[in-house]
Amino acid sequence: MDMNRRGFLGAGAVLAAGIAGGARPVQAETAGRAKRAFVAACPPSSREYASRRPGPTRVMMIGAHPDDTDITCGGLTVKLISRGFQVRFASVTDGRMGHQKFTPEETARVRRAETIEAAKRFGLDGYDIYGYPDCGLYPTDEARRLVARKIRAFEPDFVITHRTCDYHADHRATGQLVMDAGYLLGVPHWCDEVKAQRLRPVILYMTDPFTYPRELRPDVMLDVEPYLDKWCDALDAQVSQFYDWLPWDKGTESEVAALGDRTDLAKRNAYLRKYWAAKKQRDAKRFADAWRAEYPDRPAPKYMEAYEVSEYGRAPTEADLKLLVGGA
Ligand SMILES: [Zn+2]
Repeated sequence: MDMNRRGFLGAGAVLAAGIAGGARPVQAETAGRAKRAFVAACPPSSREYASRRPGPTRVMMIGAHPDDTDITCGGLTVKLISRGFQVRFASVTDGRMGHQKFTPEETARVRRAETIEAAKRFGLDGYDIYGYPDCGLYPTDEARRLVARKIRAFEPDFVITHRTCDYHADHRATGQLVMDAGYLLGVPHWCDEVKAQRLRPVILYMTDPFTYPRELRPDVMLDVEPYLDKWCDALDAQVSQFYDWLPWDKGTESEVAALGDRTDLAKRNAYLRKYWAAKKQRDAKRFADAWRAEYPDRPAPKYMEAYEVSEYGRAPTEADLKLLVGGA
């Protein structure tokens, strides 16, 4: 059933790309855990076709709001930076609606300052806020061009974003913008103020729990337990998110009140881990069978991050996926 579904989706991507861009979709010569072939809208499948720029591997994580990448991709981020990768975060909106007391202008200002601190704690290459209005993002031509310019300027090997079935309209618009830019990143006369990427990035989707039209496929899985402390240290930088707005939104303000003056770092981290690592525990259970199939000799992790390869970027080779996941 699953394989049939994959075959159908792949054929759709081939057709769509052929009509829209004239590009010939390519298949990776190798594939992930199940030796499956990834269909992609973007050539090439071979590194000989276009060489990547020299220097460290670069990963760009593009979320809708100034906490999405932090929460969902934090374990991978810590691991990649510890291995010498350059990681850049982006929030397409300014996050201004996400506070119950501050004015939107105050919230936007605070969010910008907090993301600078979060970038320091993660060790990011940078944390950009593109500034579109929170709760009002649409996949317009202007936004597509801005996202593409930012991607081209950083020249990432990998881009990670939301799926277009995620719950928040801004998340869906962000995923759409990245998907729409995917093929165009390599078209020289489009948006020619920034040089087109000869070797387009592999695009992946960060995890979400949604099941319509289907659940996320865990093409890349990662045991993130070793990175949780450093991850919580970085979340802790965004006070207005993790100690104000999100507890208010979720009705857990009494737990924050119990932290008192919040001078105890260990208590703060325990609180953050309790609430925010729960998603990673959920994914460890949800994708336990996939993990066992991929790594039969390794114990299943308690905390997992999972990512799905998008058909709108370059098809990853086995080497690409190994590069991203690393050894452990
Ligand atoms: Zn969000």
